[in-house]
Amino acid sequence: MTLVIAMDGPSGSGKSSVSKGVARALGLRYLDTGAMYRAMTWWMLREGVPVEDPAAVAARAAEPVLASGTDPDAPTITVDGVDVSGPIRGSEVTGAVSAVAAVPAVRERLVALQREIIGAGGIVVEGRDIGNVVAPDAQVKIYLTASAEARAQRRNAELTGVTITATQADLARRDRLDSTRKVDPLAQAADAVEVDTTSLGLDEVIEEVLRIARK
Ligand code: C5P
Repeated sequence: MTLVIAMDGPSGSGKSSVSKGVARALGLRYLDTGAMYRAMTWWMLREGVPVEDPAAVAARAAEPVLASGTDPDAPTITVDGVDVSGPIRGSEVTGAVSAVAAVPAVRERLVALQREIIGAGGIVVEGRDIGNVVAPDAQVKIYLTASAEARAQRRNAELTGVTITATQADLARRDRLDSTRKVDPLAQAADAVEVDTTSLGLDEVIEEVLRIARK
């Protein structure tokens, strides 16, 4: 049986680093579903689609060709053949992604793509709705949490020229937008094991997840 590990949790909970570390340790592939929502958003912005208009976003959602590389040591994401790994982390995409991700046509398309990738073999999948929606049959489901301060500090370390206060405000805004949908993808799957990463180092969190996966 191929092993699927669902890793959910809010921004700054440490999902990406933990997921990559766990994938490496177990020889699994790695998929960052947030990068797919970001890539879709990058494309909408480039096309001049008004991202606050759900009907306009839905009308174009089938067009971009997305491809995700699943090597945990070198994950890649392309849109229509263009490598967008850098631009999708910029403030323009970060500011618009929650609106685009709230559009059902976007979610349906990306969830279908994610299931295709998952179907190809063992994998660690990070996101918001993996344990609940994308891979409800995953053998291991983890929900990472951390205090608002710890999350802002971690996110801030990845950015330049942004204050902690601004980062914390942006995370709170995205949490709010991400959790006010009809189906709340931030909701923890009932069978997920919660791991609070606030006072743990990266290696300790990876060890804890590996311990849970071995059970
Ligand atoms: O994980 P990351 O912060 O890169 O995700 C960016 C955004 O993509 C989230 O704020 C959320 O709006 C959306 N997302 C989602 N479902 C997922 C992964 C990400 O709605 N599975």
